[in-house]
Amino acid sequence: MRTIKSKGGINGVRLWFTLDEIEATMGGLRVRSGQDQLRRGGVDVERVLKSEFGIEADYQDLGDGVLGATHFAESGELAVVISAQLGEEAEVDTVAWRRLRSTLAHECGHCALHRTLFQMNRDQTTMFESVDAIDKHLCRSADICPEMEHSGAHEFSKSWTEYQANQAMSQLLLPREWVLEFMEQLEGYDSHNGLGTIIAVKGVNYVIERVAEAFDVSKQMVHYRLSSLGLSSSTRLLQDND
Ligand SMILES: [Zn+2]
Repeated sequence: MRTIKSKGGINGVRLWFTLDEIEATMGGLRVRSGQDQLRRGGVDVERVLKSEFGIEADYQDLGDGVLGATHFAESGELAVVISAQLGEEAEVDTVAWRRLRSTLAHECGHCALHRTLFQMNRDQTTMFESVDAIDKHLCRSADICPEMEHSGAHEFSKSWTEYQANQAMSQLLLPREWVLEFMEQLEGYDSHNGLGTIIAVKGVNYVIERVAEAFDVSKQMVHYRLSSLGLSSSTRLLQDND
């Protein structure tokens, strides 16, 4: 991680992470939460939040278009808030449930990567008593999307924190080693030809749907993550899917 003084930063500072650093950070959180083996149903993000930060998500009305928020206090204390409406929809709808998981993972990314930006005065014991001591980071639905993973332009825009949180989200929900292990277990996987054989026989949507089901994430997120993982057939995978 590099720290850069920037007018576009938070408290005059912006952080720079390599993709490997974000992956290592989120993998560390997952493993420390006791999730070191490929797990049917994917990563339990709430368990990560609890084990790493000692917090549980709170559900509140956040207003139109806002799915989640992370509150940072100068003391380093954190709070994650999720849209109550999203929480309700997630109980009855798979798409909303997966959006909820994405939002939790995105906020978890903010907690892991951006807490230091707000810890300007660690000696201060103020937690949530003073509104002034809290910086609220709202995440709108348009911000929480796997496509940003591929848009280098976002690295330099004012939404660099969103870009990094989206990286953290997909790397937490679709860990590289878990995805590769799962792929190798798919019927028809060929270690020399990667996913090519399965795609030729069963079609690209078959692969994307199997991964989405196994990891309980959206197909869109799988689509982008498979490409970013640099699987041998990723180019073809994307072309076939577009
Ligand atoms: Zn965000």
